[in-house]
Amino acid sequence: MRPARCATISASEAESAQWAAVMKSYDVCECGAPLRLMERPTPKPTGTEVLLKVVAAGICHSDLHIWEGYYDLGGGKRLKLSDRGVKLPLTMGHENVGEVVAMGPDASGVKKGAVRLVHPWLGCGECAVCLRGDEQLCRTPASIGVFRSGGYADHLLVPHPRYLFDIGGVAPERAAPLACAGITTYGALKKVGPMLLNEPIVIIGSGGLGLMCLALHRLIGGKGAIVVDIDPVKREAARRAGARAVIDGAAPDAVKQIVEATDGGAWAVIDLVGAAHTVQLALDSIVKGGKLIIVGLFGGGVTVPTPSFPLRAITVQGSYVGSLSEMVELLDLVRRKGMPDLPVSTRPLPAVNEALGELKTGKVVGRLVLTPPG
Ligand SMILES: [Zn+2]
Ligand SMILES: [Zn+2]
Repeated sequence: MRPARCATISASEAESAQWAAVMKSYDVCECGAPLRLMERPTPKPTGTEVLLKVVAAGICHSDLHIWEGYYDLGGGKRLKLSDRGVKLPLTMGHENVGEVVAMGPDASGVKKGAVRLVHPWLGCGECAVCLRGDEQLCRTPASIGVFRSGGYADHLLVPHPRYLFDIGGVAPERAAPLACAGITTYGALKKVGPMLLNEPIVIIGSGGLGLMCLALHRLIGGKGAIVVDIDPVKREAARRAGARAVIDGAAPDAVKQIVEATDGGAWAVIDLVGAAHTVQLALDSIVKGGKLIIVGLFGGGVTVPTPSFPLRAITVQGSYVGSLSEMVELLDLVRRKGMPDLPVSTRPLPAVNEALGELKTGKVVGRLVLTPPG
């Protein structure tokens, strides 16, 4: 293998490059610094591996954390991603759709030319957790775009066809966000349980995940969703997308507003932000017996009096992406009820740094998806 080469080149040079001859990717070489164009020999799939030509790669908010290299634990403490086994240089991108271009001799059930959504939440595949079907919770995760190369590239190697899903006639850039925003919010909605059909829920955060969560909640037949966000533009997006009510999370009476909108307190809050103040807002807004499901990784910390748990009989649960079987369920839901209506804008792959910058400003409504140049 020729060693990977870090090089900064102009967009025009990138456009004129031979994309298929040498595999190109945009990698995190240094935490927080602009991604750099890397060149490597295009991998040849062996065994059960499948090589895809990337046709759409969603940019997820968690990519900002991976890029910066840490999660904020509150109180000045940080969880470094390098301590979790993330190694640089890293090709990020875990929301991918690609066209199958080659496969190893043991890869069955896929054909060249097939366009597939990639389930990225891989584990070791061998431990008890993986064997029971929860690869996303494996102690040695191998998630695509986090622990192994992702889709901010022209090609992507997937270890087994079981991670590939048919998207029917859905446009790749619309299907790509199902791999993270879709399955993550589907996994969180499942944790609410059957009360979802009878009681309104509260969704905190109206970015890509929030709008996806709202759309899936509607597809599932949920009773109604109240969406909380501090940004009026995002609240308006949620209102247009069918939220029963929208509330400014920064309002001094936000708790009161949530309690009123839920007729006495929320049965379930899905916190897609995960900041100290959003978790506190959720804890203050749920009823006895209620559930708080934390998904977002914004960071920070809260202090909860321990008697609150038994006296209010509350459940606080974390939710991390989803399993392969949940991906099957999600795609079945999409086939039966249609694609969740999430606003999607595309950007050419060489503009990845600008796109990450856009997301960081917090002004992106819906999802940005990278597509091949030209
Ligand atoms: Zn993600
Ligand atoms: Zn495992």
